[in-house]
Amino acid sequence: MTDSPTTVRPDRRAELAAGLARVRARIADACAAAGRDRGEVTLVAVTKTYPAADVVALAGLGVTDVGENRDQEAAPKAAEAAAAGATPRWHFIGQLQRNKARSVVRYADVVQSVDSVRLAAALDGAAAAARDRPLDVLVQVSVDGDPARGGALPDAADPDRGLGAVAAAVAGADGLRLAGLMAVAPLGWEPDRAFARLAEVVARFRVDHPEATVLSAGMSGDLEIAIEYGATHVRVGSALLGMRSTLR
Ligand SMILES: *Cc1c(COP(=O)(O)O)cnc(C)c1O
Repeated sequence: MTDSPTTVRPDRRAELAAGLARVRARIADACAAAGRDRGEVTLVAVTKTYPAADVVALAGLGVTDVGENRDQEAAPKAAEAAAAGATPRWHFIGQLQRNKARSVVRYADVVQSVDSVRLAAALDGAAAAARDRPLDVLVQVSVDGDPARGGALPDAADPDRGLGAVAAAVAGADGLRLAGLMAVAPLGWEPDRAFARLAEVVARFRVDHPEATVLSAGMSGDLEIAIEYGATHVRVGSALLGMRSTLR
């Protein structure tokens, strides 16, 4: 018998099961510590650099949501996983070029990294042409307000990168549904300070968009603190699948 490329070896499956048990326990403990219901937090397994076989195995272990940050890697991986019967919700979490919008809207259920009005418009056009229902979108927020890095700017009136402008563009697009916000703690910031600041941004944002209740925050190293500050989705890669050999 030859191994199918979407079947993992038993030792890899056991490794993934153990990682998943550890991460689920961390999420449950963090919810308990924060006085939150465990059902309020969804695990997004970040499978970048890992093969479709791992996605298939994780789906078999009950993982419902998967995250990827590069279109050229995610598009074939989603197709391979689907051919093997695994159809988790695919979250696109990386920096996205507008010319990749048409590809991403075909397999992604959620794009978490929309940080400009121009990108929102590109996704709207692509989604309207290729999908029969709106694409869920999270606006990525810059916690430190540094315009040189990714994220909409919470305190700026910038017509392309300001958080208010981006959120309004997504909310007003027929092809998109504004589901909430996403953030990454800035390098060099204590997670406590980053997620406390994020919680302030979220509170102001929800005055204008009360229906947009998703908050995607927290990764392998800081998911407990993100849950304390209200995360509804945590994006976990290395703690679940192992350390990546590359820095992404
Ligand atoms: C890679 C990545 C993650 C997962 O990071 P880990 O530290 O491996 O858990 C989460 N969010 C984004 C945007 C990523 O690119």
